[in-house]
Amino acid sequence: MDTTTIAHVMHVTERPPVVMVRGEGSWLEDTEGRRYLDFIQGWAVNCLGHSPPIVVAALREQAGRLINCSPAYHNEPMARLARLVAESSGLDHVFFCNSGAEANEGAIKLARKWGGRRRGGAFEIVTTHGSFHGRTLATMAASGKPAFETLFEPKVPGFVKVPLNDLAALDGAISDRTVAVMLEPIQGEAGVVPASDDYLRAVRQLTRERGVLLILDEIQTGIGRTGRLFGFEHAGVRPDILTLGKGLGGGVPLAALVASDEASCFEPGDQGGTFNGNALVAAVGCAVMETVCRPTFLDAVRATGAYLTERLQRLSAGHGHGEVRGRGLLLALALTRGDAAKVAAAALERGLIVNAPRPDTLRFMPALTVSHEEIDEMIARLEPCLP
Ligand code: PLP
Repeated sequence: MDTTTIAHVMHVTERPPVVMVRGEGSWLEDTEGRRYLDFIQGWAVNCLGHSPPIVVAALREQAGRLINCSPAYHNEPMARLARLVAESSGLDHVFFCNSGAEANEGAIKLARKWGGRRRGGAFEIVTTHGSFHGRTLATMAASGKPAFETLFEPKVPGFVKVPLNDLAALDGAISDRTVAVMLEPIQGEAGVVPASDDYLRAVRQLTRERGVLLILDEIQTGIGRTGRLFGFEHAGVRPDILTLGKGLGGGVPLAALVASDEASCFEPGDQGGTFNGNALVAAVGCAVMETVCRPTFLDAVRATGAYLTERLQRLSAGHGHGEVRGRGLLLALALTRGDAAKVAAAALERGLIVNAPRPDTLRFMPALTVSHEEIDEMIARLEPCLP
């Protein structure tokens, strides 16, 4: 593709000069026929890999039947997916969205509505330093990403930030104005920084005692990414509000705001959207959920995650680098020297896609179906790129 055509794409991020034309499983191919082993998968989006037959079949079948009947009516895949998500999460009501940011925006609105009705007008939400909740004005204000601090002033008010894994700080930040605490079980964009299971359990207890909601943003950690269907299962807690995205659509734009009966207080007119819950993407969501919820699927994700962890630890030890963090197939390798962005750029030259969320961190989010052979191939391609 010529550069004058590419020039019309708004410049919102630095992109390397390659144009991808095809994807299959763990592999991408560009216009020059070069193949790339993809350990990012659209930022943890393609949970079953590129163009998995199950997603293609669901799209084909549903596209021929009904794409979007308008959000004014029920459609069959939307209802079926709502039931699958509600039953598997232990929550009650689901509103489908088109992006993770929109799901979190909805969670913020829902919490504020609940605060207005049930907590004397409380509206503040406590979030954590380093968190990432999206790129709408409210979700940027909710995020604890340092680069967002000076962008797009004035900020949406009502967010208080505390360090992750610091219960005393959280306790001190909850006041009469607080309506909810909002957390990621693992901060993905911050470089794969886990909330400890003990902390999550204590936060659940604290939010109950103080009468505020717990919102878990599982847009990156949900749908099997950590080896359980939801990240909160590791700690044995359940939030009042849960947001999902990325893997839920297996590559198509689908996200969800999920709430307990108690927290689910929207009334007609409070929330909606032209594309929300359309039959086409909901049918894909059903296919993804039915696959990921198969009994052996998550066993395999945990086994593959253990293998990737062990291979990364061996690679790191051999080159004097640092720890391997994360869970399941959301992992990071800490570099003790060099620049992770340069390593990722060198890896791309060798036909490997990894990501550098921080200058000292490489992140790995392969398809949940990635094979041991593909992991071995990834290590072989990454090794010569390490400083
Ligand atoms: N929340 C978390 C934890 C995320 O990782 C992301 C995206 O990376 C988002 C929210 C925003 O999702 P989206 O990019 O679909 O708006």
